[in-house]
Amino acid sequence: MKRVLLAILIAIVGLPTIANTSHFRFVDGNPRQNDQMRLILDVASLRLTKLLDVKLPDTLTVAIVETQQQFDSLAGGRIPDWGAGAAVPARDLILLRRPMMNQYPGSLADLLEHELAHIALHNRVNGKYVPRFIDEGFASWFAGEWTFTNITTVASAQLTRSLLPLQKIDDVNSFHEAQASLAYSQSYLVVFYIYQRFGELGFLDLLDAFASGKQVSDAFRIALGVSFWDFELNYRRFLASNYTVFTILSDTMGFWIILAVVAVIGYLMVRKRKKDALGRWKEEEKYESTDFDYTGSDDEPWKNPTDNEDSEDFSSRR
Ligand SMILES: [Zn+2]
Repeated sequence: MKRVLLAILIAIVGLPTIANTSHFRFVDGNPRQNDQMRLILDVASLRLTKLLDVKLPDTLTVAIVETQQQFDSLAGGRIPDWGAGAAVPARDLILLRRPMMNQYPGSLADLLEHELAHIALHNRVNGKYVPRFIDEGFASWFAGEWTFTNITTVASAQLTRSLLPLQKIDDVNSFHEAQASLAYSQSYLVVFYIYQRFGELGFLDLLDAFASGKQVSDAFRIALGVSFWDFELNYRRFLASNYTVFTILSDTMGFWIILAVVAVIGYLMVRKRKKDALGRWKEEEKYESTDFDYTGSDDEPWKNPTDNEDSEDFSSRR
């Protein structure tokens, strides 16, 4: 489906426009998949160019690796074993690890968009320092990596008071997978929050501040007019009012899950009650009908209106 949409988008924007964006060179990988990836990257680079008002490198290399050793040496550092891909902006390089690249939670398209977004962002800040929560947040937000799991991750972190301080996310590569998942979810929401609260221009102003070499606190104050302390405080308030257990309940998927659980519990309770009632009837019949004669008034009590006691007895057994 995504491929069809990409083809339509290309038809609308036209190939000449795409010809002005990056060219992708593939090292390894099978030719058919490389062609599919090129299509995804062409469209993503066009979107990024417009969104960030940035020029992407003329040629980008996409290398497909299989071993951790290859992955680390090409990335120039230790890449966590849960990583399916990595971007090396200084070398205009995207690394994809097989077989994880084909098992990425969203899709291979999401992974490619994510890594290309890192390259575009780094070009936008001229290779200067940008905090990891902005870097990963933008890449995840651009690739649309947001599912019900992310909501539950943030909601449970709020419940257990284990939200990460944003600056700590700089160390995401040393996190274990579950903690990294929280870091990605929180980062996504930082960028989402900035776009919602300060708009697209606010986000670009922030990138400009980083591009001029500003540190986090100065960049936020200059670009968004708030101290970083206040920003984080307001961001947490935003999480507290939008990503809680109640959000899960109101989320369509969460609603259906909970409805299914309630239905199963309801079914089990009704079954148990029926079973208990049947047992009770059998017990009662054992004591009441010793002659096994069911042709009398007991079966049709309404035919004997004078026998009130029998009638009551019947109704209590139903
Ligand atoms: Zn990333």
